Amino acid sequence: MMAGEPILQLKGVERHYIQGPRKLTILNGAEFMLRRGEMVALIAPSGAGKSTLLHTAGLLEKPDAGDVILGGRACGRLSDDERTAIRRNDIGFVYQFHHLLPEFSAIENIMMPQLVRGLAPVEAKARAAQLLDYMQIGKRGHHRPAELSGGEQQRVAIARAVANAPLVLLADEPTGNLDPVTAGYVFDALSALVRQSGLAALIATHNHELAGRMDRRVTLSEGRVVPI
Ligand code: ADP
Repeated sequence: MMAGEPILQLKGVERHYIQGPRKLTILNGAEFMLRRGEMVALIAPSGAGKSTLLHTAGLLEKPDAGDVILGGRACGRLSDDERTAIRRNDIGFVYQFHHLLPEFSAIENIMMPQLVRGLAPVEAKARAAQLLDYMQIGKRGHHRPAELSGGEQQRVAIARAVANAPLVLLADEPTGNLDPVTAGYVFDALSALVRQSGLAALIATHNHELAGRMDRRVTLSEGRVVPI
């Protein structure tokens, strides 16, 4: 497909952690660009810095140097409040474990971020139902997470992540907890969503089969993002 406009850019991003007497350099001048409609796999061994990269790109962590440009806006040095607002509106996260609220139904879980943003409940509910349909679990909306299968829970988590129509979806092992067949179906639904909505997605995965179905694959080497 045609690559769209740049949605997310990392420019010279550095991240260091202090562990006891040692200074760990996890990102060391990382450069990366993600375009609209694009799905990119991030494949690297445990401890290489995948979560650090996703959290920095998703404005959960601040870069020690360099910048994160989201939708054309430099975000690295914004205040915590500004970063929170951008996260709420423009960034969707999906994790290996769904983190759905157990006492609420699937529909209510997907409504939640929209209500936080200030949408009317009736609109939030309509959008939630539409997203569930899109994820092909329209009939499961009134069930609580514990009543859903692992694959269904992840579909709900994906629907929740995109409920506010973010610019970018960041996923950390989104199918890592699923059997291969279920992982394939959840990935199909996720990828249809990205293609159809013009979202851009960076997805950390250990699953080479799924990585092979994305547009590009990158890894981390000495704190930099490099193509595979
Ligand atoms: P991955 O997601 O690829 O497994 P991470 O980004 O979680 O890698 O971690 C990369 C390295 O940074 C690891 O060595 C980890 O121990 C270290 N690390 C991550 N977060 C912190 C932190 N908050 N404080 C200190 N060290 C950290």
